[in-house]
Amino acid sequence: MSVFYQEKSAIPIAGEYDLIVVGGGVAGVAAALAARRMGLQTLLVEKSVILGGLATLGHIVIYLPLCDGQGRQVIGGIAEELLQLSIKYGYDDLAKQKRYRTTFNAPAFVLALDELMVDAGVDLLFDTVFSRPVMDDGSCQGIIVENKSGRQLYTCRTIIDTTGDADVMARAGAECVEGDNWLTFWGYHSDLDVMQKAVETGDVMQAVGLLRCGAGPAGQGAESRKYSGVDARDVTEFVLAGRRMAKEFVKKKDKKQYSLLALPGMAQFRTTRRITGFYELTSADVFARFEDSVGCVGDWRKAGPIYEIPYRTLIAPGLKNMLTAGRTIAAKDDAWEVTRVIPVAALTGQAAGTAAALALESGEDVAQIDIQKLQTFLEDTGVLIHI
Ligand SMILES: Cc1cc2nc3c(=O)[nH]c(=O)nc-3n(C[C@H](O)[C@H](O)[C@H](O)COP(=O)(O)OP(=O)(O)OC[C@H]3O[C@@H](n4cnc5c(N)ncnc54)[C@H](O)[C@@H]3O)c2cc1C
Repeated sequence: MSVFYQEKSAIPIAGEYDLIVVGGGVAGVAAALAARRMGLQTLLVEKSVILGGLATLGHIVIYLPLCDGQGRQVIGGIAEELLQLSIKYGYDDLAKQKRYRTTFNAPAFVLALDELMVDAGVDLLFDTVFSRPVMDDGSCQGIIVENKSGRQLYTCRTIIDTTGDADVMARAGAECVEGDNWLTFWGYHSDLDVMQKAVETGDVMQAVGLLRCGAGPAGQGAESRKYSGVDARDVTEFVLAGRRMAKEFVKKKDKKQYSLLALPGMAQFRTTRRITGFYELTSADVFARFEDSVGCVGDWRKAGPIYEIPYRTLIAPGLKNMLTAGRTIAAKDDAWEVTRVIPVAALTGQAAGTAAALALESGEDVAQIDIQKLQTFLEDTGVLIHI
């Protein structure tokens, strides 16, 4: 049964922007930063009050490698800038790692991300949930959001979906694919033994550990069912089941010696929904050359493989001024596994933000921008375009 609810009053316009970026995870931060540096009036909308998304709220504190594992750096630009930023005010283990990667302190990363966005002049809107895009003939004219001020409309000339779930692209009509998730829980914990070790070694990192329960990325150690990240009931059950696993672990501990330090502030789904895009990257594309590459990425799981990311994975047919970045780009099978991680979210965010600026400058649809110009802008910041 459906119930129709008629809006009685017009929705007020709360702001007008060149670009709206929806979702303040790593991809959203990178997109907003790149676009702002190109001069766009940019609004970054985030439903929580914390920047970083899964990387901070979700406790995924391992900034995976920027190198190919064979001594060659393949990711640069804003992705490298954010890696360095993640350890600016907090601990790190960069020097101890074989590959160019680090473990960071999530709250310290959040402080640095706030500073980065404010200094760059990106307008932030926290505690604001994107509800739906306002579309006109394949063009997004703005978005309707909900927050403490009520229901509001923000208008824009172009938009980037970095919700991690392709919420904006899906509601604008983009063809999407959904992914299921095994139950996973990552939380911070500590106990007297590791605290003692930290004191002895003079290294505070020793005192904070990641409690990992449930399945690994390939479903290792999983219970039988999978969960959808774009079904509200499933999201709730996933979160509660994860916390139940944590409770079973904590119950076995001595209350005076052990402490759970923090629970994740967002559901820890690896793959929820992504666009199919103009081109879907697959595992068969390893080492392939793409004329519209916006950057290279290594394989975080093993040394050697490199993928070029085609610009066409960030945009969808029929949507003239919309792009996506992060774990929602068009990549399937092993290629999704390799691209759905923090450094690639930053890389694709930078590419999307730069492309949005070029589209506005030339007055063209995002699918028609000058790719060589985009590549030159990215290269100038240290992005490696071709293998
Ligand atoms: C269990 C697990 C382990 C992982 N391990 C690693 C690892 O070790 N290293 C690694 O590099 N990667 C890892 N990943 C992947 C990585 O964390 C993410 O893919 C990456 O952080 C995604 O970044 P993103 O910006 O695309 O999306 P997200 O981090 O999901 O950011 C999306 C943002 O959008 C906001 N948002 C969503 N919907 C709305 C809305 N409607 N309105 C407003 N805001 C909205 C969210 O609050 C969030 O801040 C792991 C992921 C999981 C789940």
